[in-house]
Amino acid sequence: MEKRNKIYEGKAKIIYSTDDPEYVIQYFKDDATAFNGAKKGSVTDKGIFNNKISTKIFEFLAGEGIPTHFVKNLSDREMLVKKVEIIQLETVVRNKAAGSFSRNYGVKEGELLNATILEFCYKRDDLNDPLINDTHIKVLNLASVDELQKIKEYTYKVNELMSKFFKNLNLELVDFKLEYGRFHGDILLADEISPDTCRLWELGTGEKLDKDRFRHDLGNIEDAYQEVLNRVLS
Ligand code: UDP
Repeated sequence: MEKRNKIYEGKAKIIYSTDDPEYVIQYFKDDATAFNGAKKGSVTDKGIFNNKISTKIFEFLAGEGIPTHFVKNLSDREMLVKKVEIIQLETVVRNKAAGSFSRNYGVKEGELLNATILEFCYKRDDLNDPLINDTHIKVLNLASVDELQKIKEYTYKVNELMSKFFKNLNLELVDFKLEYGRFHGDILLADEISPDTCRLWELGTGEKLDKDRFRHDLGNIEDAYQEVLNRVLS
């Protein structure tokens, strides 16, 4: 597979075309942003950690029957993925209160929720990724009823699978964000799954091993990502 032109550059990744129109290369950068781009920085080797962690998780989920865009790992920072049309939704799952849920609804961080929360945000940086519901999704034509049904079904399954996966690594999956894409009539899990997109707390101590270390200047960011990678590869 030959790497061709840059077709998109986001906050943490670059997408390159290939000589096959069905596939693109996803390149992971070290750039880090938080609070919708208000905080910017760089974390040494974050792109390498996230590429390797995402690879492992996509492989695990595919083995459990979740369709994903992941094809294969190409290098330290690159993976080959199917060229999907990204659905303009951020699908967030919460098992414990943290982040914007704690801020918006006045619930203390770490509080156990009596049900799993599923949230959708409209993927629009210019609008600050507003929280939306099923009827907004319908009216804004972001996904069909069938697509949304599939997204929900896959997302709850991914939560079950990943919660167990991380628990075995002594990590608690507090919350996470998923993105999906369309590919020849199917819905595929896309983007990345990494400590940039998941809150992961050490079981027992509650130590944060994720992007909150960058968001809140907690230090040892590289060590935290390295630790997650070591466990995922163990
Ligand atoms: N998240 C993400 N990208 C976003 C927004 C959120 O990956 O643009 C992830 C975030 O890392 C966390 C979960 O989704 O694991 C819930 O994030 P929250 O809404 O609490 O946002 P934040 O605290 O970042 O404002």
